[in-house]
Amino acid sequence: MNKRMYELGSKRSVIREIFEFGKQRAAEVGADKVFDFSLGNPSVAPPAVVEETLETLLKTENATALHGYTSAQGDLETRRAIASFIASKHGVKTDPDLIYMTCGAAASLTITLSAICNKGDEVITFAPFFTEYRVFTETAGAKLMELSSDPDTFQIDFDLLEKAFSERTAAVLVNSPNNPSGVVYSEETVKKLAAMLEKKSREYGKPIYLVTDEPYRELVYGGVKVPYLTAYYKNTVVCYSYSKSLSLPGERIGYIFVCPEAEDAKRLYFAVCGAGRALGYVCAPSLFQKMIAKCQGVTSDVSVYEKNRDLLVGALKEYGYTCVRPDGAFYLFVKALEEDANAFCERAKKYGLLLVPGDDFGCKGYVRIAYCVSPDMISRSLPYFKLLAEEYGR
Ligand code: PLP
Repeated sequence: MNKRMYELGSKRSVIREIFEFGKQRAAEVGADKVFDFSLGNPSVAPPAVVEETLETLLKTENATALHGYTSAQGDLETRRAIASFIASKHGVKTDPDLIYMTCGAAASLTITLSAICNKGDEVITFAPFFTEYRVFTETAGAKLMELSSDPDTFQIDFDLLEKAFSERTAAVLVNSPNNPSGVVYSEETVKKLAAMLEKKSREYGKPIYLVTDEPYRELVYGGVKVPYLTAYYKNTVVCYSYSKSLSLPGERIGYIFVCPEAEDAKRLYFAVCGAGRALGYVCAPSLFQKMIAKCQGVTSDVSVYEKNRDLLVGALKEYGYTCVRPDGAFYLFVKALEEDANAFCERAKKYGLLLVPGDDFGCKGYVRIAYCVSPDMISRSLPYFKLLAEEYGR
């Protein structure tokens, strides 16, 4: 058997370990004494229109067609609906024939990185980052170059970035709103990044791609704007998913969008189709593609997440914790109250608080709190966060 695959499959991720521990603990001491902040599973139901559309499709469409194969790259009507939505919402050029339907962001990223990278290439990303980036990049035969971000803002540290490029750099991978920090890249950051990518592409005589992982695009609070990256840098590939915006992570639906202004956009798209084929990611779930075609512009009610953020950030700051206030997603990345975040998480467990150490996100000394839970659970957990801080003399 393949050794790498065995290793990937036999080792559970830290997040999954904590989640399993939480279930076991709840059975022992009662669910009301366990505050599981480990998983990024949306706690808000999908919008009613999503379920209504699915019902209508099931009642009115021909079942053979509805559940049958679509084109490998996805149903044309769906790709048209997405292309026209992106164009009207963000004022950018789109093309349905440069969209590839996928089984969520994980597939979007695996396909895109495999389409772009050759063996020995490098992909630059910024810590903290989604832990699976290492797996996706290695699967594409490339190496993930992990750069620290500005610790006060978690925006890009451009001095570090400037030094990280080499002739092996194939792509820069960004995620805004970010998992695990919740930070949204400002327009200033995006403009600087685009300018640096232009400069480095010229210097190395090849396009260096910008891959943008956007499952949290719609999960932003207080009117914060998330710049649409194809408007700033043409060699961009957007990796999107409806897992969080429509609360459908189990249904596995998303897409890849190649910017029409990218160099050799059509060839790049063919490479995406090739990677999809090679990885077995053809023909994303048909029923959900057809629903998506009718639900463009719809988003789950994210006001609960905003309420949770405000409750948690306000209380934790008062108790002596520090964190960058997140503008989006549903995560809070908090500085652990001791150097070793793993030891801190172990202490937190005593109070029933299940937090994820930041090490796997490429950032030691922090913990991630996924606040996609009920506001009631947050309120009940706060006294325990206070007791935990007091243990550290806060
Ligand atoms: N990228 C980021 C930043 C994520 O947080 C996640 C899931 O939590 C994914 C990608 C994978 O998303 P999906 O469930 O759509 O595959």
